[in-house]
Order: sequence, then C-alpha cells, then structure tokens
Amino acid sequence: MERTLSIIKPDGVKKNVIGEVIKRFEEKGLRIAALKMVKMSKDDAKGFYIVHKERPFYESLTSFMSEGPVVVMVIEGENAISRVREIMGATNPKDAAPGTIRADFASDIEHNIVHGSDSKESASYEIPYFFSALEIK
Ligand code: UDP
Ligand code: MG
Repeated sequence: MERTLSIIKPDGVKKNVIGEVIKRFEEKGLRIAALKMVKMSKDDAKGFYIVHKERPFYESLTSFMSEGPVVVMVIEGENAISRVREIMGATNPKDAAPGTIRADFASDIEHNIVHGSDSKESASYEIPYFFSALEIK
C-alpha cells in the first residue's frame, strides 16, 4: 500500500468538479484516506511548492494556489503515486491523454485542476504538510 497527496486546485473547486475528480480516483479502486477543504495563504503555497522556488512560474503558481479554497486529500492504494498521476494526465492539458482529468477540465498549463505527488519522497513531504497522523484513516 502506498499513500499520495492530491489537491483539487482553486480552478477545480470553482468549476464544480470536486465530486467528478474524487469519483475518477475512487472508480479506479483508490481509497480516500483523508480529506479536507483549506484556503492556503501565499506563504503556505510557497512552502508547499518550495521545490519549484527557482522556476519562472513559482510566483504565479503560488498566487494561483492561494487565490481560493482547495480540497486536499490523501489517496491510498497499490502504486497510488503513479496511478494518481496517470488519472490526472500530463501537466500541460494539451499533452494530456484523452479521458484524463487534465485533458477533460484543465484550461492551461498552470490552471490544471489537480495536483498529485510525483514520488515517495514528495509524498512524504506533502502529506504531513496538510495532515497529522490522526487525520489519516
Ligand atoms: N506549472 C506552470 N507552468 C509550467 C509548469 C508548471 O504554471 O511551465 C504549474 C502547474 O500548475 C503545475 C505546477 O506548476 O501543476 C507544478 O509543476 P510540476 O512540473 O510539478 O507539474 P505537476 O507535477 O503538477 O504535473
Ligand atoms: Mg509536480
């Protein structure tokens, strides 16, 4: 069993696709082990995306991620990290495979609806960023 962190980004919440995104994970046999809605401050978003601090999109990305509420969840299952990434689709919706969340709902490379940890190392930073052990069941 593996755990990963996923976020329905502010654009996903605004587009009313929270249920749709969760359904796509659940129908593939992945289990929601923790879930809540939060509004990040700019500094919260900067800390979450600290690995990208040198990238040209860091400022814009962290403003976007703190502009409205997001839904954060811990998803559990066999190979959950790579399976969630597959269901999400490529970062740029133009490159995302048909039927993926990003192909179906994302408007551009920044506003791409959903986040998923990209490795065990990222997941072990990202999960406790939002959830205590007691909140994951
Ligand atoms: N992003 C962006 N411009 C880029 C690349 C990424 O605005 O050229 C944003 C986008 O929202 C992406 C996030 O930064 O989801 C994190 O980038 P990463 O390369 O980690 O993509 P992901 O792992 O989310 O597919
Ligand atoms: Mg990433």
